[in-house]
Amino acid sequence: MSAVYDVEGFYAGLVENQLIYPTGVQGAYGRGAVFEDILRRFDALVLRTAEADGAEEMMFPPILPRALIEKLGYLENFPQLAGSVHSFAGSEARARELTGRLHDGQRWEDLLDPTAVMLAPAACYPVYPNFSGLLPEGGRLVTVLGWVYRHEPSPEPTRLQSFRMREYIRVGAPQAVVQWRDDWLARGLALLRGLGLPAESDVASDPFFGRVGKMMAANQVDQRLKFEILAPVISQDKPTAICSFNWHQDHFSAKFGIRQADASVAHTACLGFGLERVTLALIKTHGFEPEAWPEAVRQQLWS
Ligand code: AMP
Ligand code: ZN
Repeated sequence: MSAVYDVEGFYAGLVENQLIYPTGVQGAYGRGAVFEDILRRFDALVLRTAEADGAEEMMFPPILPRALIEKLGYLENFPQLAGSVHSFAGSEARARELTGRLHDGQRWEDLLDPTAVMLAPAACYPVYPNFSGLLPEGGRLVTVLGWVYRHEPSPEPTRLQSFRMREYIRVGAPQAVVQWRDDWLARGLALLRGLGLPAESDVASDPFFGRVGKMMAANQVDQRLKFEILAPVISQDKPTAICSFNWHQDHFSAKFGIRQADASVAHTACLGFGLERVTLALIKTHGFEPEAWPEAVRQQLWS
């Protein structure tokens, strides 16, 4: 496709070609059959690439225990992104008040109560509690595919409120975990470039909240804890992160009492392919019609 980058034009093209279906809420559009086909085929390619690693597969619902979100410190670090599930647990009188307000066009949400769950903000979070205790020799490697929620409404088709991540999570000896993260960074770059994406890697930070958050983000960059692979999708100057690689050091292993087989300290790292973003990067790079994509790309995805 031409090297013109504009948010509105790209969004309009996605809608016109029934790749996405607007719902009236930013970052909450539906995905069409062709979009889904690309996304699932890319995910399958990742799984094939990593097959020999023998990752254990886990699957979780897109909700997390509220207590787990609290324990992870998510509300200290990213309250602006959190999503909470509320429901009605009141009396009949209160229910009548709710419907009364609804019919009168008044706000009603304060009549709901928080449930025991929140929306999952990362696919790997429910995995860590399962590592508690002594790890097997050599540590563990797990993969999950999960829907995650982030409260960041935006007109950019690449910034969604609900999207999927294919994650790999490694836990074990500090050295082995960093090596694994670095190896995957090279592997991820090769995989994405092999699909014709002009992908580059860079150090990165998470959007920690507030002034203290700015310091945490700077520290994250200093220590080179997070890397991203980026590709231009809606802007040439500000390429979009399509894959992230995080070394958590002992952040999760300390919280969940995870230790190596010999009881020494364990580290964790994870990587996540943003599946919608990779799909959008492929569409931006190769065009709205996958039948017309370069043969070398098609062969890898549609073989
Ligand atoms: P993070 O946990 O923020 O590093 O995100 C992991 C990956 O998910 C990123 O590399 C992106 O590919 C993707 N991602 C993050 N935020 C969004 C979003 N708002 N919409 C779509 N994809 C996202
Ligand atoms: Zn993760």
